[in-house]
Amino acid sequence: MTELLKTIGRGPGSLVASGDKHLKPRVDASSLHHRQLLDGPFWQKIPAYRNVDEATFLDHQWQAKSSITNPAKLLAAVQDLVPPAFIEDVITGFKHAPMSIRVSPYLLSLIDWADPYNDPLRRQFVPVASKLFPDHPKLTLDSLHEQEDAPVAGLTHRYPDKALFLALDTCPVYCRFCTRSYAVGVDTDEVEKVSLKATEDRWDQAFQYIGERVELEDIVVSGGDSYQLKARQITLIGNKLLEMPNIRRIRFATKGPAVMPMKLITDHEWLDALTAVVERGRKLHKEVVLHTHFNHPNEITAITKRALDGVFERGIITRNQSVLQRGVNDSIETMQLLVKRLGHCQVHPYYVYVHDLVKGVEDLRTTLQTALDIEKAVRGVTAGFHTPTFVVDAPGGGGKRVAHSFEHYDRETGISVFAAPSVKPGFFVYFDPVDTLSPDIQAKWKNAADQDRMIEAAIGQAKLNHAQTARASSVR
Ligand SMILES: *Cc1c(COP(=O)(O)O)cnc(C)c1O
Ligand code: SF4
Repeated sequence: MTELLKTIGRGPGSLVASGDKHLKPRVDASSLHHRQLLDGPFWQKIPAYRNVDEATFLDHQWQAKSSITNPAKLLAAVQDLVPPAFIEDVITGFKHAPMSIRVSPYLLSLIDWADPYNDPLRRQFVPVASKLFPDHPKLTLDSLHEQEDAPVAGLTHRYPDKALFLALDTCPVYCRFCTRSYAVGVDTDEVEKVSLKATEDRWDQAFQYIGERVELEDIVVSGGDSYQLKARQITLIGNKLLEMPNIRRIRFATKGPAVMPMKLITDHEWLDALTAVVERGRKLHKEVVLHTHFNHPNEITAITKRALDGVFERGIITRNQSVLQRGVNDSIETMQLLVKRLGHCQVHPYYVYVHDLVKGVEDLRTTLQTALDIEKAVRGVTAGFHTPTFVVDAPGGGGKRVAHSFEHYDRETGISVFAAPSVKPGFFVYFDPVDTLSPDIQAKWKNAADQDRMIEAAIGQAKLNHAQTARASSVR
């Protein structure tokens, strides 16, 4: 055993000479920030919630009812806390926004309104005009081509054995950066949406397709957001899928725990419905899990911990998917803290997505290089099963690719090229935000002919690299 450990720790290629000690210095508990969760009546510093007691704040119905659904109400709630210029900036920001607004009191209370420009939660949910950049010239509204791969409206069958079922088109909050802004939320000045209502007729068509395609084993139930499904709808969808012999795995995806964790504490009917599906699945040897969407450690408070403790006690496995966002979680320190804090709540960090090409949020996208750098620093800080995989969901429907797996990455033009041999033939191209590139290259992105030349050159190089590695590889 000791010999084995030695071999693992000090392989022949190790730079540490044998006999050297590398003892860990002691750590002070006060430096373990992932365990220090915001607690107490933090919401009472917002004037509108000054007299709201804990029982009311934890009531999910009060949270839903009191959620803010238009910019004027949002500004009324925070007007005494923010700099006046900020208010104008938000009003203009919403005029250009492709997403509707919905912010829960919980979320609103977690934003530092004294410094709204830099707050990582404000950046995700409230647009400000002065910080918007023009969209990337190659952006299209449904950049992942989810509709193109949908045999039934709201059912995307892209991968061989798994499919994405968009059960409904509403959410407990609306995120500025939503990949599904083509469908999610109500129409805005900028975008007329595709309708994906929770109608049982559309669901029946989806169930029929899933049942008929024997190769399908794994269904992601999303939207919109599973939080918005009624308890009886969770039961209906869960049972329908569990009863199909081909289905082995179901995931209910929701941003809810990140923006309204109290529902898991006070909506007994909803959590009981989910638990029943999980338990029935377990008896049938089928896995039913919860997928959450936390992006920043500030979204995890003592209320979140309490909510997730309850989920854990019921034996429900929870995994998290984050989106890498500029000014939100694009630093090593923040991402490490997020990963550790999720682990502390027994949530497995599963994916970090490099930001999709989405309308109106160029200020939130990062370069692929940022993802590579952060991944390097995150891997090693905690358990491997708590270490997220950094992925690019390839525009054009190539599916998720590990960020490091590009065939070619031209850091100068910001073009990366991916291949997805088991998903779709061809090459898939991702673009770094133009404002992060040199002035010369930025000028080229303004010219259509130059754009095509840069993209052709990158794909050409990817083909060369691909052919070279294919020759050297023994994998067939
Ligand atoms: C993300 C996604 C899935 C699930 O993929 P995993 O990598 O297994 O999490 C399935 N279908 C579609 C269309 C997706 O975008
Ligand atoms: S919760 Fe998810 S589906 Fe809903 S707006 Fe946010 S990112 Fe989009």
